[in-house]
Amino acid sequence: MITEIKHWIDNKFEGGKERFTIRRPADGEDFVHAHIADKALVARAVSSARRAYPAWRDLTLKQRCEFVEKMADWLADHYGDEGEATELKSTIMEEVGKPLPEADIEVIETSDFLRFFANNAVEALSATEPKLDQELWPTKRSIVERVPLGVVAIIKPWNYPLEMIGWSLGGALVAGNTCVIKPSEKSPKTASFFARMCSDIGLPPGVISIVYGDAATGQALASHPDVNMVSFTGSYRAGKYVAKACADRLAKASLELSGNDAAIVLADADLDLTARGLVWGAFCNAGQVCVGVKRALVVESVYDELLKRVIALTASLREEVDYGPIISKDQLNSVIAFVEDALQKGAKAELGAEVGSKGNFYSPTVLTNVSPNSKLLADECFGPILPLVKVEGVAEAVRLANDSDYGLGASIWTSDNSKGLEIAKKLEVGMVWINDVNVAFPQTPWSGTKASGIGFELSAAALQEYSRLKHVNIETGSDKDRDWWYPYGS
Ligand code: NAD
Repeated sequence: MITEIKHWIDNKFEGGKERFTIRRPADGEDFVHAHIADKALVARAVSSARRAYPAWRDLTLKQRCEFVEKMADWLADHYGDEGEATELKSTIMEEVGKPLPEADIEVIETSDFLRFFANNAVEALSATEPKLDQELWPTKRSIVERVPLGVVAIIKPWNYPLEMIGWSLGGALVAGNTCVIKPSEKSPKTASFFARMCSDIGLPPGVISIVYGDAATGQALASHPDVNMVSFTGSYRAGKYVAKACADRLAKASLELSGNDAAIVLADADLDLTARGLVWGAFCNAGQVCVGVKRALVVESVYDELLKRVIALTASLREEVDYGPIISKDQLNSVIAFVEDALQKGAKAELGAEVGSKGNFYSPTVLTNVSPNSKLLADECFGPILPLVKVEGVAEAVRLANDSDYGLGASIWTSDNSKGLEIAKKLEVGMVWINDVNVAFPQTPWSGTKASGIGFELSAAALQEYSRLKHVNIETGSDKDRDWWYPYGS
């Protein structure tokens, strides 16, 4: 059955003039018809958010946190049990092709992370009173508040279709902003669960609106004059357009963009652990993870042994159980082009490099002898490809890891944590995992540097990201004059 997805504005479903069709990546069957928001509809959603803003801002922080806590509870209810394919998890699985354990993680993490924002906002957002120099300013008192920005546009990708939206909503809402969500055109059905959530928890109209569509809808939203901030997650290519649209009116843009993460494997690494970590890091979500392992830089003394283990583990992965399909035919063709370019330049496919028998499946692929000139090492390949590159030692690994336009994450595999920490200091990235990869904690910042973005998700840093500082100064004395006022020289 094909589901029809309509926009959510003022707590009501609303159709647009046109619709687009989503095909299930696993079998190519039509799955969803979603309405498209044109400029006029985007403007209606923004003005609904603008109308709702003063009342939402003027709730107490505790009241806003209670709503966000209800959102976390709602998701926990729709999580069911681990391994239970509830309606929400089945939608994620069908729409973006995730295996059930990955849908499990996505739903429970989104709930947990929303709860983190609800439980930690008071500490992160409370006003402070900096102590002024008492000799100079004995009668002055200053209060520094964290105030919301206004209307926040949340434009997100499909690869974590629930979680990426949830991360931004948590911080933006508790800080006092109202939000217009523009989910990916590849995952509207998962995003539509937020509309059901709003209705079920009694969120006031306009606090969250959802508009569907592609880049044109996103661009209309990012460039709308009444949008005060854009929280964008997606490709570097699209992120630049969002940044330009915001720059035109000096609106804030938080950009979580593409990556080309290296895994550095040292001679003292536990090779069993490392092989399992690299294989999961490269192939979970069919390799369509911003912080997935995109390049393994392996010290030569352990290269052959690690390669053997990586090949054996990769060969054991099962289609539809351990890995799903690529999101779309276009994305599949892009992955094929990356691999063909590498093979033409001398790479060897140790395993994989094959299109599946149906849908957009592509087999997990291990490549060796990849030329430094291949696109695969230079740019982000969003698919299940793991190139293993032999390096002489740590210095070469660090040099190659940093030799990238991107700077999102990296992992280091070693049995000596202090050595790992020393290497972490040298990496030009926003996040480093030692003996793990692709783990998010609500308490710690998620961010990239260089072409991987500007700004933060998660942690107190994200709560502050969705607010601004406002200083209020009070004169507490009763003097009728100030020494520095006119007239001068008397
Ligand atoms: P994408 O850039 O194609 O699309 C992301 C969102 O932006 C979608 O909603 C899309 O409709 C919208 N969009 C596209 N062009 C736009 C424009 N010109 N103006 C406004 N909006 C526009 O990315 P995608 O294919 O959905 O997702 C994959 C990318 O996201 C990868 O590069 C991945 O690394 C990145 N990503 C990054 C993180 C992170 O935390 N850094 C997390 C997840 C995904």
